[in-house]
Amino acid sequence: MTTHRRHFKEEIEELVDNRLTPAARVEVENHLESCERCRGEFEALSWAKRLSSKEHAVKSVPAKLEENILAALDTEDRRSARDAGFTWNRWLTQKPILAYTLLLFAALILVLSYFILRKPLGRAPELSSRELPTKPTPPSTLNRNTKPDLPAKPELSAKTLPAKPTPPTKAKLPTKLKTSRPDLPREVARDYQNYKAGKIPLMLETENVKEMEKFFSEEGVPYRTRVFDLGMMSYRLLGGRVHKLTTHKSAFFVYRGKGDAILVCQMYPGKVTELPAGAVLRENKGIQFYIYRVEGLTLAFWQEGAITCAVTSDIEPEQLIQLAFAKAVNV
Ligand SMILES: [Zn+2]
Repeated sequence: MTTHRRHFKEEIEELVDNRLTPAARVEVENHLESCERCRGEFEALSWAKRLSSKEHAVKSVPAKLEENILAALDTEDRRSARDAGFTWNRWLTQKPILAYTLLLFAALILVLSYFILRKPLGRAPELSSRELPTKPTPPSTLNRNTKPDLPAKPELSAKTLPAKPTPPTKAKLPTKLKTSRPDLPREVARDYQNYKAGKIPLMLETENVKEMEKFFSEEGVPYRTRVFDLGMMSYRLLGGRVHKLTTHKSAFFVYRGKGDAILVCQMYPGKVTELPAGAVLRENKGIQFYIYRVEGLTLAFWQEGAITCAVTSDIEPEQLIQLAFAKAVNV
């Protein structure tokens, strides 16, 4: 609750990296004691640093494995690959079967995308023939001849491939790639803040875990929810609500722990593979946990069958991770 001239953002980074002079260190540490904001910054930074060094340790194992595999491979093969890089001719001479398989595959894609592109043609013939002048074929007649032939005769399509590169796929890409995934961690973190700000009311207030589960099934949550009993960890259920997380219906429930710590859980049908990059991965009991830090909050996501579980809190990150470890079930 103290007021001060400024915060110590840069000094905190230096403190975490151990780059401060003793005098400066004392000054920053004194400030940390009185300033919650800087203390939060310091904890987040040192947490990130610890995790990144852990991550580094984990990463070095696969790197070694890769080295061993490389060593096991024919050394000459390796050298030639490195010296010459990738050239098509080399492939044709050294690995003809692979090369032709690739060609065939590319031809298949070409043929497929050709048909996919044609679909709109059928719906609006005058328009599309104007738009695609490179396609000389009037829709119906030639189509009937080529359609059944092409997939059946791969030699034919393979031969035609090098002459014409990939205009059809190029034309198709932009529309297909536009759908971007929602940033779930950000949304889950916002829900947490909104709940704390009183903007997300609970629909049922109960300490009873079974009653909470019953509520969710009665409210039409289409999957079985598992409301954990966190009594052993001194977290008491406050209640929950049927909520919405992007397009998912989610079971949203809240616990209160020591010192009024609030823990929010959400369960929704979905895959952890929908989550964006930037997670720190941790594993426990064979379950993969995706840990995010968003604006001072820690979020842990994991998969239970077709359901993704997320717990969020502003408590000490490692404490939240351990809570998640304790309650996750391998389905
Ligand atoms: Zn400060």
